[in-house]
Amino acid sequence: MTTFQELGLQDNLLKAITDLGFETPSEIQEKSIPTLLASDTDMVALAQTGTGKTAAFGFPLIQKINPENRKTQGLILSPTRELCMQIANELKLYSKYEPQIHTVAIYGGASVSDQASQIRRGAHIVVATPGRMQDMINRGLVDISHIDFCILDEADEMLNMGFYEDIKSILSHTPTTKNTWLFSATMPKEVSEIAKKFMKTPVEITVGTKNSGSKTIEHQYFLVQARERYQALKRLSDANPDIFSLVFCRTKRDTQSIAEKLIEDGYNAAALHGDLSQNQRDLVMKSFRSKQIQMLVATDVAARGIDVDDITHVIHYQLSDEIETYTHRSGRTGRAGKTGISMAIITKSELRKVKSIERIIKQNFVQRDIPTGIEICEIQLFHLANKVKKTEINHEIDRYLPAINELLGEETKEELIKKFFSVEFSRFFNYYQRATDVKKVSSSEFEDREFSNDGGSTRFFINLGERDGFDWMQLKDFLRDTLALGRDDLYKVDVKESFSFFNVDDHLADKVIAFFENFKLKGRHINVEVSKKESKKSFGARKSFRGDRGGFQNQKRSDDFGKFGKKKAFDKKPGKKGFKKSF
Ligand code: AMP
Repeated sequence: MTTFQELGLQDNLLKAITDLGFETPSEIQEKSIPTLLASDTDMVALAQTGTGKTAAFGFPLIQKINPENRKTQGLILSPTRELCMQIANELKLYSKYEPQIHTVAIYGGASVSDQASQIRRGAHIVVATPGRMQDMINRGLVDISHIDFCILDEADEMLNMGFYEDIKSILSHTPTTKNTWLFSATMPKEVSEIAKKFMKTPVEITVGTKNSGSKTIEHQYFLVQARERYQALKRLSDANPDIFSLVFCRTKRDTQSIAEKLIEDGYNAAALHGDLSQNQRDLVMKSFRSKQIQMLVATDVAARGIDVDDITHVIHYQLSDEIETYTHRSGRTGRAGKTGISMAIITKSELRKVKSIERIIKQNFVQRDIPTGIEICEIQLFHLANKVKKTEINHEIDRYLPAINELLGEETKEELIKKFFSVEFSRFFNYYQRATDVKKVSSSEFEDREFSNDGGSTRFFINLGERDGFDWMQLKDFLRDTLALGRDDLYKVDVKESFSFFNVDDHLADKVIAFFENFKLKGRHINVEVSKKESKKSFGARKSFRGDRGGFQNQKRSDDFGKFGKKKAFDKKPGKKGFKKSF
């Protein structure tokens, strides 16, 4: 195994590395450090966040800086304020035994004049966001015309955020003699173009497979109906009592509303999105880092700067349309040699997206079921039992023992255990005893929407058909859009020449009738009538596809809870049926 000494690092850096507790170089460090130290070369390194890339460029950079010369020698461009601060802090730790080397971070949302005066006092290394850097160059507050090294960190993120023009302009103020080191998690076309345009025959380094997700991450998906996403999220959290997670939503509105709902439901959650002030964002991040927040609900843009180790789960409340985004999101867990889980809550229509992501990350997803109430209760119970077992006794309690004994002395040991556990546990038990389990949705291509439908279904007649230019798919789209129904709300569309049939769940039937009461299409009155009411049984021909799920679930749930209430269920050991089955 290679050591840091063997990479060619000097004593002052080695001492700092020992202080940091790094024992062996990570793969990216092993590959980049000797090359960067031994030659004046450009480099393109493909590495995920969390692979130790800050040190991969930071150690050689510090070793190559001449502290005697006060000019700015190294420029690091990074996409967000948080990352800038983090990189600057790391570099300060690396140069702990080279106190003459000064690193200054410049980023938006903080005083320009303060940052300018730090630069004036001397900055061998400047770590900057492209926007603020451009601004300070324009005002003549920073001079990068003599730098020897330019590092583009998280290049793909910077380009995603629209910094291409800024980067181009910043680079035009740097000398052609410098070396450029580009780090990126993925290599989209835009990043290759930057490399081609601004770099000279760069050495290429790849950690893992190109464009692949980190192998330390297990990718899971949970198939649910769209309206049960939130319930699914709550259950995933409840089934992982020590969760420390990032939850991704697509829009600021969803981010805010999901975080609010979680808070209302008693979770340690917060929102992070672009509508918050910098101050609010800093506060949220501080609470998250200190683990006061267990679930940080964020938009992709806002989460870009988050570089927190120990995130146990990344939850995709909604998948992003951009497949690249998946890699960035899930790369927030499984960092620094730890393992992590990336969980995507998806609807059936998103299955195809999962397949595309699998091809990109070259890893398969595992399909999991949303835990049932009974499973969650068991997990919570044994989590509590383990916590009690690991708890160190606080002997301050000793002096109160006689009084407590007097109060509880009559109870048997078994009763006491049950009572203590019930203090915490009943909250979950009572909730899940009442809650309906999230329905399992089959990924089978053949299974129609109606087979997972608990209630009845209404079949409608409509006087539109092939003659009016509709095939079944067009009619389905037309009706769904016109009625503003969800993707799976309308089914069994059967188009004849001059009329058609379709089904909706019973609870939507009134809406359909009311909507078409006076509806005209191209001046023609459209007639919609109930053709027949159908119960689940009337779909008997294909019933075999659904097994005994769906409508029977409620029955099963109360049976399980009945059993759980008896003493026997408490005797179950971890690993036995139901306990942590899917985790
Ligand atoms: P980075 O990819 O630079 O954000 O690093 C991710 C985390 O890994 C940071 O907390 C680093 O301090 C840590 N780290 C970097 N290199 C090593 C190493 N060789 N050994 C252990 N931890 C490391």
